Amino acid sequence: MADAEREVFVPSVEQGDGIVVGLGIFSTEKIAMSVLKDFLKRTEQMDLISAEMTRWVIDIIGHEGSSLLFRMANRRCPVCERNTFWIDLVSFNAMCYGSGCGAWIEDNIHIEEIIDCGWPPLRFLHQSPTVESAMTELGKMGARLKAAGQADSALAAKAFLEEYGEEGSLTDDVLRKMGDPKLADEGR
Ligand SMILES: [Zn+2]
Repeated sequence: MADAEREVFVPSVEQGDGIVVGLGIFSTEKIAMSVLKDFLKRTEQMDLISAEMTRWVIDIIGHEGSSLLFRMANRRCPVCERNTFWIDLVSFNAMCYGSGCGAWIEDNIHIEEIIDCGWPPLRFLHQSPTVESAMTELGKMGARLKAAGQADSALAAKAFLEEYGEEGSLTDDVLRKMGDPKLADEGR
């Protein structure tokens, strides 16, 4: 083989009935990733349990030519309660792909023992010691927004932020970085 080895990237999703649906074969991981992300944004009404990305080296017989790059599991979002919360099972990073939500959990890039979580519509950011407690924090926020009535989400969000701020969840440092919180009323 004189040519450099050629590889392709194959994103796929698994439905609740066990059927795996391939989303195509792509020449770069970047394109494959954006195809998968676009697809996940439209999955609110679909029954999906997992998504994964496989790299294949072409012209190799059998599974030695393939390697699994990542696998994500689908969970109920702790904030919006739709089944659009995708958790990377290796890194444990997670994000909700539901429209208008975007709740996320991520390892802090500077401090290993800290897990960051957030909710973009409110610019909410919280730091937790574990993934479980990050899920709990997001869940608390979801419950509170729901209790306050989503019809008036801007007011609910503001009330929540004031209360949460007093609990010290949002540090001065973080608040300074974020600027004034923008509320999720989207001009209504
Ligand atoms: Zn969500």
